[in-house]
Amino acid sequence: MFYNSTRNSTVKVSSAEAITQGISADGGLFVPESIPTLSLDEIKAVGDMSYADRAAFVFSKYLTDFTDAEIHYCTDNAYSTKNFETESIAEIAHLFDGTYMLELWHGPTCAFKDMALQILPYFLTTSAKKINLDKKIVILVATSGDTGKAALEGFRDVEGTSIMVFYPEDGVSPMQKRQMKTQEGSNVGVCALKGNFDDCQNGVKAIFTDENVKKQLDEKGMMFSSANSINWGRLVPQIVYYVSSYAELVKDGEIEAGDKINIVVPTGNFGNILAAYYAKHMGVPVNKLICASNINNVLTDFINTGIYDRNRKFYATVSPSMDILISSNLERLLYLLTDRNDSLIKEWFGKLSAEGKYEVSDDIKVKISEEFFAGCCDDVQTKNTIHEIYEKYSYTCDTHTAVAVKVYEDYKKATGDTTKTVIASTASPYKFSEAVLEAVQDSKSELDEYDMIDKLAELSKMPVPSALADLRNKPERFNDVIDKAEQKEYVLKTLGI
Ligand SMILES: *Cc1c(COP(=O)(O)O)cnc(C)c1O
Repeated sequence: MFYNSTRNSTVKVSSAEAITQGISADGGLFVPESIPTLSLDEIKAVGDMSYADRAAFVFSKYLTDFTDAEIHYCTDNAYSTKNFETESIAEIAHLFDGTYMLELWHGPTCAFKDMALQILPYFLTTSAKKINLDKKIVILVATSGDTGKAALEGFRDVEGTSIMVFYPEDGVSPMQKRQMKTQEGSNVGVCALKGNFDDCQNGVKAIFTDENVKKQLDEKGMMFSSANSINWGRLVPQIVYYVSSYAELVKDGEIEAGDKINIVVPTGNFGNILAAYYAKHMGVPVNKLICASNINNVLTDFINTGIYDRNRKFYATVSPSMDILISSNLERLLYLLTDRNDSLIKEWFGKLSAEGKYEVSDDIKVKISEEFFAGCCDDVQTKNTIHEIYEKYSYTCDTHTAVAVKVYEDYKKATGDTTKTVIASTASPYKFSEAVLEAVQDSKSELDEYDMIDKLAELSKMPVPSALADLRNKPERFNDVIDKAEQKEYVLKTLGI
């Protein structure tokens, strides 16, 4: 299996090259040259495997340049109870008849990003070795909260890597700040920047592309890489849990092999739902892919009209991980829907960066509406949904997942469809305690972060994830705060250059 660039179909690299490069030199994203297919029997057989083996099976179709031993080294290290609080890794909870919550947040940082970021470091170091890049990999991350922590947990103490994370001093939640300041590991660094998220991001980009810095790193036997969500190594692990959950439902007798299901995904960068699209086209029987957004509803509009227009107001919502106006992974979907037409992709995404807007052709609009349904909801509706399902089903869900539940309810009303449905649950409710507690109790809480968690535990009767419970007593290790102008010096100094 080789990988092409969405902006140049003649680019042809191995998976190890795609993963170490992250993004193609032409600015395009790497896409496998074909989608491997699984028979129903193969999918059924997945149900009898451990999660690590399910993952290895799916990866063997995509990472064909990896040996079995290399794949198992990656999956066994990533998907064990050392890192996840449940044996099943991706737990399925029954919400109500025919509706299932795929809980993807039992990893170390309590959000679904762990499903990919626990394995990416192993993919990266294995890939680098395979292509004889005998260098220490230095990961630089700019974060507005969740990705930084998930990357830190993924890379901590992984041999041959080090990681440095920058966050805006006043731009993350108190809990997110605590999570990062107390980070453990011998190869990690965390630093606050006086500025906003864009300052962090621009600084990191400037350091990445600084030829002089690159040379200095090279001389010390190091190289930069990125844990960014456009890396194929972050997308492929997400396909696994859709194949896995289908197999699990068959095994549990909830569906017959061959029955179609709907999949609902609360969406930001379009990565998670694109993984569901891949699972469908590998052979998982899927009826509709339902794309759920908060009021930053650029994707809802796109799926319903074929016009992508980012020229709109940006809202800060109670589901912040979906506060996004540019959904990068949409580029991969459009590449596939246009039958890999790289010049059209270049044209549309050129327009997106120049004018913030593009419109796809009519045949593509038809294809999109055949595969997808899209909807959105605001913060009030999100909280009302949390309240309702807590009252009705004694189930507590986080704000992002609630957006998915609400849009699914709207879908059912609009279509009358009764197909059984899997909802991707992307974060632990404890991660967004303040909004969830307010929704459950129907009033704002005056408690501090930790007392809110205790209160939520009392009401939801769900165990507090140990990663969050332990935070209260952990010592802070990282208290550096720097000016934007100092960022490059800081990185070099920390690396001993
Ligand atoms: C990142 C994130 C999302 C959005 O996922 P995408 O792959 O960017 O669409 C949804 N919910 C949570 C909790 C997240 O952290």
